[in-house]
Amino acid sequence: MAFFKKLKDKLFKSSSKIDEGLEAIVGDGGEAEGDKGPSEAEIGAAREAARAQEAEEAERQRRAEQEKRRQAQSEAERAATAQEAEREAAQERAAAEEALRAKSAQDAVTPQQPAAPEPLRNTLTPVAPIEEDAEDSPAAPAPKRGIFGRILGRGDSAPVVRRALDDAMLEQLEELLISTDMGVDTALRVTANMAEGRLGRKLSVEEIKALMSDEIARIMEPVAKPLPLYAKTPQVVLVVGVNGSGKTTTIGKLASQFRAAGKKVVIAAGDTFRAAAVEQLQVWGERAGVPVLTAPQGSDPASLAFDAMVRAEADGADLLMIDTAGRLQNRGDLMEELAKIVRVIRKKDPDAPHNTLLVLDATTGQNALNQVKVFQEISDVSGLVMTKLDGTAKGGVLVALADKFGLPIHAIGVGEQIDDLQAFDPQEFADALTGLDR
Ligand code: GDP
Ligand code: GDP
Ligand code: MG
Repeated sequence: MAFFKKLKDKLFKSSSKIDEGLEAIVGDGGEAEGDKGPSEAEIGAAREAARAQEAEEAERQRRAEQEKRRQAQSEAERAATAQEAEREAAQERAAAEEALRAKSAQDAVTPQQPAAPEPLRNTLTPVAPIEEDAEDSPAAPAPKRGIFGRILGRGDSAPVVRRALDDAMLEQLEELLISTDMGVDTALRVTANMAEGRLGRKLSVEEIKALMSDEIARIMEPVAKPLPLYAKTPQVVLVVGVNGSGKTTTIGKLASQFRAAGKKVVIAAGDTFRAAAVEQLQVWGERAGVPVLTAPQGSDPASLAFDAMVRAEADGADLLMIDTAGRLQNRGDLMEELAKIVRVIRKKDPDAPHNTLLVLDATTGQNALNQVKVFQEISDVSGLVMTKLDGTAKGGVLVALADKFGLPIHAIGVGEQIDDLQAFDPQEFADALTGLDR
């Protein structure tokens, strides 16, 4: 899927972090495939066994040779005796005939003697080189392959390095996940699930990635939900979040997508605190082809929200998206401002806002968890949008959010362009985060 490629490319930093980390972890104590990894003792024992077998075989051959010689000799003797008897019995016969018989008896003896060592040689020859091989192979080439595999890594013909999953390795995997800002609890949960029924199993980097990705996807699955659309219009979407988290940008992107989907959208530039914020939203409105309602800088955002409700109803709009200011330095002020907006729009529709979207910046890492707590206290957060997942090594925080809060994740921001907002697909995200190629 082209979508996946894009996400994976954009999440490059995160995935390369896990990629590199896993290479190091598996390489640390891992062994190349095909190299069964015999210990020195095992090699010694194998050599000893081969030598004993060789000696035994030689002894057997020697005995067989002896036996054959004995047989050949006794046969020759027997033949000679028979010859003798025959000769005695035929003594009366002609001298010429007697001489002829003596020659043929000699013939019968002669081929038997060289025949004896010949088959022995035949059986000896193939045995010896095989034993030489058996002695050399576990000792010499195997360790070479192991080192080679580790140095060359993942060349096509290079053996796959695997490491047995144990507590030490799980701890390393946990640290790696924590480094992507997954948080201790969630990282522990992921590694514990990975370990279940697999301790002692030898795993390659790709196999670990697949396991990790599946466990992460499993945590994210329940929260992957698109922004729900209701029959009642206008559906009011209040967008909250700290300054710079990407609220205005996300509204622009969402407006563009909804409009492309045939929805009629109105935007209220509720961040009246900064003039630049209003201008920025107007630019986005133009890009998306959506009307933006503005108010002079410093004016009451609740008043603007009320006007926007009136306008949205009059226009028959499907959606009204309300931008807000995110000054968190004074939580009380922010709470009051948001509460006032909600109070006023409820004069028009008691069920409004139908969605309160909290926009979070992925680059803030674990801080995003704290922001969710704060905004849940001051507003009725119904879902999340995580922005700036492009080029951050901290995408793991989204897993922690899913694990801790269970709030729906509606979309993810992967860039500053209008189409850089994607539906949240857990498996795709997990694959991208772990750097897994499916
Ligand atoms: P607001 O203060 O919450 O309204 O945040 P803005 O929408 O103004 O965004 C703050 C900055 O983040 C701007 O420079 C945006 O271009 C940038 N931004 C927003 N979303 C993304 C994203 O998904 N990826 C990247 N790379 N930048 C983003
Ligand atoms: P209160 O602060 O809880 O008393 O809320 P109000 O009902 O007084 O309204 C708060 C803000 O919403 C006001 O400052 C007005 O700007 C705005 N507002 C309330 N009702 C209307 C209205 O009918 N029309 C407009 N344009 N603004 C309103
Ligand atoms: Mg803004």
